Amino acid sequence: MNYHNVQFEAAFGTSRQLPKSSLPEIAFSGRSNVGKSSMINKVFNRKQLARVSSMPGKTATINFFRVDDIRFADLPGYGYAKVSKSEKRRWAELIEGYFHQDRNLYMVFQLIDIRHKPTADDLTMLNFLIDEELPFVIILTKRDKLSKRQFEERMKAFQEEIPYADQITMIPFSAQTGEGVEQIKEIVNE
Ligand code: GDP
Repeated sequence: MNYHNVQFEAAFGTSRQLPKSSLPEIAFSGRSNVGKSSMINKVFNRKQLARVSSMPGKTATINFFRVDDIRFADLPGYGYAKVSKSEKRRWAELIEGYFHQDRNLYMVFQLIDIRHKPTADDLTMLNFLIDEELPFVIILTKRDKLSKRQFEERMKAFQEEIPYADQITMIPFSAQTGEGVEQIKEIVNE
């Protein structure tokens, strides 16, 4: 797969607008500020591919982009405290609508900040992925912000904090050092 061929397709604000799933799809999910835009831009080697979703307060949309015959869905970041109730409802409708459509979902990359215990929203998302038996891996973002010792402590803690942790692939990632990029690409290629 040639990542240089990445093309932005479109952004959608309601689930009704989402086009039928015609290609194998890979989704990126995570709370606002987790580092999702930085990760996408690093993996696809573009400065602005994920710009829209990275601005808190901007309208949350599902953004599709495409490389060859694979479609990527950048889901709107959840858990941003300052959005209105109606915006939260719209977010929920969008994300639930997305997951409940009959889509060709091959993989969900669920992003969690490596420094912290998963938030209540993170756990809701993880339990949803588990319950729906969707294929997913966890990307632990901002790896560069931890020392080796802190890293080991957090990895141990995740085993207690994340349900079925021992059965889930977890990939430490840093948009600064590029750690984890190859592992993500290998999963996409598979
Ligand atoms: P998003 O809201 O999930 O799209 O998050 P962003 O990609 O916009 O990142 C949120 C903040 O975290 C920004 O200030 C980024 O510079 C920072 N950030 C994201 N990824 C990393 C990383 O791997 N390392 C470090 N040190 N900072 C990061």
